[in-house]
Amino acid sequence: MTPFASAILEWYEKYGRKNLPWQQNKTAYSVWLSEIMLQQTQVATVIPYYERFLQRFPTVVDLANAQQDEVLHLWTGLGYYARARNLHKAAQIVAHQYQGQFPLNIEDMNALPGVGRSTAAAILSSVFKQPHAILDGNVKRTLARSFAVAGWPGQKKVENQLWAHAEEHTPSNNVDKYNQAMMDMGAMVCTRSKPKCGLCPIESMCIANQQGNPLDYPGKKPKKDKPFKQTWFAILHFNGQIWLEQRPQVGIWGGLFCFPQSEDKNVEQIFNKLDITDAMIKSRQNLIAFRHTFSHYHLDITPILFDLSKQPHMVMEGSQGLWYNLSKPKEIGLAAPVKQLLESLPHELKNDHLKEPL
Ligand code: SF4
Repeated sequence: MTPFASAILEWYEKYGRKNLPWQQNKTAYSVWLSEIMLQQTQVATVIPYYERFLQRFPTVVDLANAQQDEVLHLWTGLGYYARARNLHKAAQIVAHQYQGQFPLNIEDMNALPGVGRSTAAAILSSVFKQPHAILDGNVKRTLARSFAVAGWPGQKKVENQLWAHAEEHTPSNNVDKYNQAMMDMGAMVCTRSKPKCGLCPIESMCIANQQGNPLDYPGKKPKKDKPFKQTWFAILHFNGQIWLEQRPQVGIWGGLFCFPQSEDKNVEQIFNKLDITDAMIKSRQNLIAFRHTFSHYHLDITPILFDLSKQPHMVMEGSQGLWYNLSKPKEIGLAAPVKQLLESLPHELKNDHLKEPL
């Protein structure tokens, strides 16, 4: 075992996290679930989602048998929805191709949707103690600083150097503890903006610390200004209900429910296909516009509330949409800005269906 690895393991025994929910009664399913949720999301945010998922889907087969809508609904708020769709697909592969047992070799695990090399290694090392190195965001940061690996880890060349360091120091004994320790080190000691070098078990070996410039590692992603796009949401209201349409599986908010959208401010142009005539529109009200930022662009959204006097027939027949009852909401996956808008709609709309007909 390298001196680096033994210092990390010694630190872990004293300070590492051992009481996280997914560290208790570990199975490949529970660790996989937590690893997917932890990609791009912090531990404190993940815990309640993880607990709800395990309660609702105690086994991978339960998850595989669920409707995608329910999976997306339980995921609402965690973001990066491709993770939820991949989670569901991977559960179906495990249930049907592997008879409900996760594969035990790293290539097959790595091939599951949403499971990359590091996630596969984390699951197999944590549950089965297989000696695989991991390289998530926290580990990349700690290694980049310890070994002064310059450059942005999104570049293959830099990533390969980091993998080489990760593999060199991952021990074959206690690999489960070592990998957990490396994740904990990045989350608790070698943090993004204020590394606690004075408390770090590898302080004396760390090159960035000796150079006095830990914050220079890892290198930043080359800056590229995000473009702006615009969209208009048509919030169609009839009798305490709002019309929502399911988005295509591929693209932003894939598989989630959303208001009909127009890329043109003349939103009424989309009403033809919805069979909405001018006579059916009781009122039109522009709501407060806001910006939603994706990883690759900003989307400026202008919501417009249309109060309808009659339920459009074509809309009723659409197979990709539904009338969302504001007082008895159905459990479906909603795009984050849609959820936010539905919650902020005027209270009277929610009780509209209680009004006596004129
Ligand atoms: S000494 Fe500082 S920079 Fe180096 S690994 Fe430890 S916390 Fe990170």
